[in-house]
Amino acid sequence: MKIAVIGAVAAGTSAAAKARRTNKEAEIVVFEKGIDISYAGCGLPYYISDIIEERDQLLAFTAQTFADKYGVELRTEHEVKEIDPAKKMIYYDHLAESKKGGYEYDKLIIATGATAIEPPFPGLELNNIFTLRSVNSADKIKAAVNSGQVKKATIIGAGLIGLEMAEAFSERGIEVTVVELQEQVLPQFSPEMAELVAEHLEAKGVKLILGDGVDHFAGEKELAKVVTASGKEIEADLALLSIGIKAETELAQKAGIEVGESGAIKVNQKLETNLKDIYAAGDCAESTDLLTNKPVWIPLGSTANKQGRTAGENAAGGDAKHYGILKTGITKIFDLTAATTGLTLEEAEAAGIDAFEVKIKARNHAGYYPGAAPIHLKGVFEKESGVIVGAEVIGGSGSDKRIDVLATAIYNRMTADELFQVDLAYAPPYSSPKDPAAVLGMVAA
Ligand code: FAD
Repeated sequence: MKIAVIGAVAAGTSAAAKARRTNKEAEIVVFEKGIDISYAGCGLPYYISDIIEERDQLLAFTAQTFADKYGVELRTEHEVKEIDPAKKMIYYDHLAESKKGGYEYDKLIIATGATAIEPPFPGLELNNIFTLRSVNSADKIKAAVNSGQVKKATIIGAGLIGLEMAEAFSERGIEVTVVELQEQVLPQFSPEMAELVAEHLEAKGVKLILGDGVDHFAGEKELAKVVTASGKEIEADLALLSIGIKAETELAQKAGIEVGESGAIKVNQKLETNLKDIYAAGDCAESTDLLTNKPVWIPLGSTANKQGRTAGENAAGGDAKHYGILKTGITKIFDLTAATTGLTLEEAEAAGIDAFEVKIKARNHAGYYPGAAPIHLKGVFEKESGVIVGAEVIGGSGSDKRIDVLATAIYNRMTADELFQVDLAYAPPYSSPKDPAAVLGMVAA
């Protein structure tokens, strides 16, 4: 059996590794157009802030170490240009040697990921306007910061990456302004929870311009100003566009592979596309919202790794399933953690779920033990059954474990009372006798 994988970051390498574990005999070849493989995209802001000092720390494997460990062939600088499903062939350009070639597969896994959106704003060609996606893109931003020339940065987009980068630039002594089209930061959070994050950012010296977008970038050769749609002129010697990403599906679509409304590749629970023997996984593919049962596209490394593993196992002859996601996400913004899982009240209502929400403010651990910090929790519960369907947590240390407890409760369709009844761990440095997650259930029950 010959298995081809296109893309070698989270989904592609997970797929190849699991395919090898499932099938010791198969020939497995991974095609990657870049040079770096299996890198931690999620670690890029910390590489720029210097928390992670060495580039190599971001790379789990080189092409050679990965190939050696898993007994697969890893062809970097190979860009796949065409898939011919009828002949079961892929055609590629070997970029380094300016050569073309083809490979015949029995099973194909598409793990082409996503790319940062860069609308054609006037002035985009000026120096020092960046997007952040790969280690290469992080190298460029880090080099600009290391030059010492960057005093003021403007970040366009207040999503997870934009805000992680606000912290990273601030850590490097750069004055930061964030411009966001929506009226709140972190648009996936409910407004009053996002407001807590906005207050924290401002307390840390980050300027926020909400409800406004970029009109153009101004400068001679170097960027000098970001000009917003409302006419604000923000002095900047670096701009970061973090306004979203789009699934990399052109190659798949040209081959007749179906794409959903989200713009990502449609897959079933086995990660099969509409074409026989072709799978898709990671940021290029949809998943299923476990609460609404509808296709959803929330491109995250956590999902990419799981989907890659499932696609790899199935391509190699196994029978694995990826059931779906709760859209669980988490981010660190200076001293705050902001995390979300499941549905907001608005999403629940839109899905026809009659729901109510409960908000509490607690402490992350016993108030008398040093380091106690506020933690805000919000839960969304179905009215009739009392089942929890969504949660948001914003606070200090310990916010991460609360969101994971709540995600587990949602996954298991637990009621508010069951959430209160769970026997959660307690000692003063970690929690309170009634853990905040349990209190949320207690108040909702
Ligand atoms: P990608 O990482 O996009 O990799 C796809 C690969 O396919 C690329 O290397 C590309 O070169 C290659 N490719 C594409 N087309 C071709 C072709 N035609 N031929 C050959 N090769 C091709 N996720 C989290 O869960 N938590 C986080 O905290 C988090 N933080 C993040 C922070 C940042 C700054 C960024 C950028 C991302 C973050 N993510 C996070 C998202 C996470 O990094 C991605 O979900 C993950 O990298 C997706 O992996 P993937 O393999 O599906 O796609």
